[in-house]
Amino acid sequence: MPWYHTLSRKGWIAPHWPKQYGGMGATLNEQIIMTEELARVGAPHLPVQGLNHIGPILMEFATDAQKAQHLPPIIAGTVIWAQGYSEPGAGSDLASLSTRATLDGDQFVVRGQKIWTTWAHHSDWMFALVRTDPQAQPRQAGISFLLIDLHSPGIRIRPIKTIAGDDEFSEVFFDDVIVPAENLVGKLHDGWRIANALLGHERLGTSNPQFALMAIERIKTMARASGIMADPAFQDRLAAASINVTALSALFSHAVELTNNGQSPGPESSVIKIFASELLQALNELLIEAAGGHATTEKPIATDFGEVDVATPFLQARRVTIYGGSSEIQRNVLARRVLNLPN
Ligand SMILES: Cc1cc2nc3c(=O)[nH]c(=O)nc-3n(C[C@H](O)[C@H](O)[C@H](O)COP(=O)(O)OP(=O)(O)OC[C@H]3O[C@@H](n4cnc5c(N)ncnc54)[C@H](O)[C@@H]3O)c2cc1C
Repeated sequence: MPWYHTLSRKGWIAPHWPKQYGGMGATLNEQIIMTEELARVGAPHLPVQGLNHIGPILMEFATDAQKAQHLPPIIAGTVIWAQGYSEPGAGSDLASLSTRATLDGDQFVVRGQKIWTTWAHHSDWMFALVRTDPQAQPRQAGISFLLIDLHSPGIRIRPIKTIAGDDEFSEVFFDDVIVPAENLVGKLHDGWRIANALLGHERLGTSNPQFALMAIERIKTMARASGIMADPAFQDRLAAASINVTALSALFSHAVELTNNGQSPGPESSVIKIFASELLQALNELLIEAAGGHATTEKPIATDFGEVDVATPFLQARRVTIYGGSSEIQRNVLARRVLNLPN
């Protein structure tokens, strides 16, 4: 968060947002340059739910009052957002979600549970998918998109540890939580359309080449320190990996360009999500190879070229083919929407 606030004070926190909402209105080239430079200096990851997910969605679908309430605190970094989509019985099959929001006068009463909610235990607000019409067919037609203040009475949040040892996500329980009706985004029962628009942004955002560029830098540092950099066979693998990172940057630039021209990311975002996430896992396997015998150490490794953390990024890379829709689900999307294969 200190890094978030530093960028925010400088006016650099949201290069991709229009100036009218406090962004930089930066060109595509400027955005890519910024991404690359931040990766090169190893800048900390920022909480992206506000900046990349709910922010752009509010600009597209929210009322003026909702925009005025929620966009400035995202820019200032005074509010952290969480994404409440997944439930114990609804992950890949998101439309089967059962957290219920019952409209009662000018408020909703929310009851149910979310899970795998990134940073919920640090967050102030959640954008959530809730079931507002249990009878609707298809099931997608009974879902709404609601903004929930996580400090409301009746909410309990329990962090879950990942294999990397960090409390990345949580379970969130709702026990008759009162949410003002004005926190509904879009129309009642029309949340699925908004949810999907957001998933497109999410798939694209998580495919940002920043992570792959940082991984390449880490591999190079480790390989110099371990001496494997002198091995021509390793150099071949490093060159192949670097070419893939360049290809990812090109794919990403193209997708961002389409988005900037007002075209919502379609199945392209599935292609890029698969490519970026599987590449990140391959890069982290190369990092293990570069570390040789040091790879068994859990703590960052001290080298003449600076400290290199090998275990954490390797373990953290396991998650990238799961969140934002698993690789299997992305391939299903491509099979149906691009290749027109039968179900
Ligand atoms: C680090 C991390 C952070 C996350 N953060 C959030 C968050 O902030 N908010 C949120 O709402 N969710 C979050 N998630 C949840 C994530 O979106 C789900 O884990 C994901 O959608 C998969 O759902 P599931 O875990 O229920 O697995 P399941 O849907 O039970 O899938 C289990 C396995 O079966 C496969 N599978 C399922 N259906 C099919 C099918 N039809 N065809 C082929 N294969 C299939 C899947 O690919 C997977 O391998 C996060 C997950 C992780 C790992």
